[in-house]
Amino acid sequence: MTVAGVGKRFDVVVAGGGPAGAATALLLARAGVVVAVVDRAHFPRPKACAEYFSPGVVDALQRLGVWSRVASLPHARLRGMELVGPGGGRHLVAYPDDPRPHRSLTVRRDLLDATLLEQAGKAGATLLLGHAVRDVVRHSKGAAGLIVQDSGTTTELAAHLVIGADGVRSLVARRLGLAAPPRWPARLGLVTHYEHISSPCDHGEMHLAHGVYCGLAPLGNGAMNVGFVTSVASAQRLGGAEAAFRWMQTQLPAVAHTLRGGGRAGKLLGIAPLAQRCSRPYAGGALLVGDAAGFLDPFTGEGVFRALRGAELAAGVALRALERGDTSAQALAPYAALRRRAFAAKDCLCLLIQAFVAAPRLLDYAIPRLNRRPEAGPLAAALGDYQPAARVLAPAMLWKLLAP
Ligand SMILES: Cc1cc2nc3c(=O)[nH]c(=O)nc-3n(C[C@H](O)[C@H](O)[C@H](O)COP(=O)(O)OP(=O)(O)OC[C@H]3O[C@@H](n4cnc5c(N)ncnc54)[C@H](O)[C@@H]3O)c2cc1C
Repeated sequence: MTVAGVGKRFDVVVAGGGPAGAATALLLARAGVVVAVVDRAHFPRPKACAEYFSPGVVDALQRLGVWSRVASLPHARLRGMELVGPGGGRHLVAYPDDPRPHRSLTVRRDLLDATLLEQAGKAGATLLLGHAVRDVVRHSKGAAGLIVQDSGTTTELAAHLVIGADGVRSLVARRLGLAAPPRWPARLGLVTHYEHISSPCDHGEMHLAHGVYCGLAPLGNGAMNVGFVTSVASAQRLGGAEAAFRWMQTQLPAVAHTLRGGGRAGKLLGIAPLAQRCSRPYAGGALLVGDAAGFLDPFTGEGVFRALRGAELAAGVALRALERGDTSAQALAPYAALRRRAFAAKDCLCLLIQAFVAAPRLLDYAIPRLNRRPEAGPLAAALGDYQPAARVLAPAMLWKLLAP
C-alpha cells in the first residue's frame, strides 16, 4: 500500500467512533491526552440495534458526564423487559429498586452515537470522519498507529497507542492476530422502526419461538424499534431480509398483532454474523474495546453497557501506560484481568440464557416459576447491569429460581 503522507502524531488513535470508541476518546481527551477518533462513517450514521439500553448504561452515561445531553434526545425510560414464551406465558423482568429506582433507556442509536462522539470532540478529541482504517502500523514492539484512507488519500497516523473500537469484524483485531474463530452458528440481526403504535407500554417485549426471537422496544410517542434474530441459513433459505421479516411474524403472531396497529417507518438494517471473539483484548501498543473485544448476541442487551464500561477500563489502563511511557503488551496486560472481573460472570449468565434462546420451550417451563419467585429480582438487576451476576449464578440461587 502506498502511503501519501504521515499525518499528525497523536498519543492515541481510536479506530471506530461508536459508543466504545467515543467514550474511550472522551475520557482520554478529558485527561489531556492528544487523541484522534477515525470512523469511515459521517455521523449520525445508521446502526442495526434494538435500541434498548440497560439501567447500567444510564449509570455509565452519568459517570461519563453526558447523561443530561443524552436525556435531551427523544427517548423513553422502561421498567423492564417482558419475556413471551412460545406457549404464550409471560414474565416481566422488572428492575428492582436498590433502593433507588432503575429504568432502562430506549433511544435511537443514530442520535445516541452522534451525541457521544460530539461530546468526545467537545472534550478535545480530533474527529476524522469519512476516513476508513485500512491497516495498523506495526513496529517491533507492536502497534504504532493506523493507516487511514479518505477519498483516495492514504495517510499514516502515528501514535503511542491504538484503540481498536471498530466493532464486530474489527480490522484492528484481525491485523494484530487477536481475532478468534466464532463458536456459534452464524446468526443474522435485522432491525426496523414502526410508528403510530397505538398502545406502547412501559416495558419492552422479547418474543421467542423456535429458531427466531424478536424484541419490541417502545421509543416514545408511538415509535417502536422492532429487532429480530434468526440464523443466516434460515434468512437465505427464505429469500432475504424482507421475506425473513414476514416469516418472523408468522412464527410470532403476538408481534404481528402489535405491528398491525402501526406503520413501518424505515428499511430493515441488518448485521451478520453477530458474534465476535478475540483471543485477548490487548497486544503491544493496542487495546480492543466494545464489540471488537467480543460480542455474543443481542438477546440480553448488554452491548452498549460493555462498550461504555469497557471504555472506562481501557481509558484507565491507557492513561497509566502513557504516564509511564510503556505501552508494551506486558504493561497493557492488566486490562484483560479488569475485563474478566467486570464481565466474566455476566458472560456466564448470558451463555446460560442462550440455552433458553436455543430451546425456547424451556421458557414455558421457566416462566411460571419466575413469576412466583422473589429471586427473579436479583436476576433482573444482574441483567440490568447494576448488580453482580455472580450472585445469580450460585447453584443454590439457580435452584431457587428454576426448581420444579
Ligand atoms: C441486531 C442487533 C441488535 C442489538 N441491540 C442492542 C440493544 O438493544 N442494546 C445494546 O446494548 N446493544 C445492542 N446490540 C449490540 C450493540 O449494538 C453493540 O454492542 C455496540 O454497538 C458496540 O459498540 P462499539 O462502539 O463497540 O461498535 P459499533 O457501534 O459497531 O461502532 C464501530 C464503529 O467502527 C466503525 N468502523 C468499523 N470498521 C471501520 C474501519 N475499517 N474504518 C473506520 N471505521 C470503522 C464503524 O463505522 C462504527 O461506527 C445489538 C447488536 C445487534 C447486531
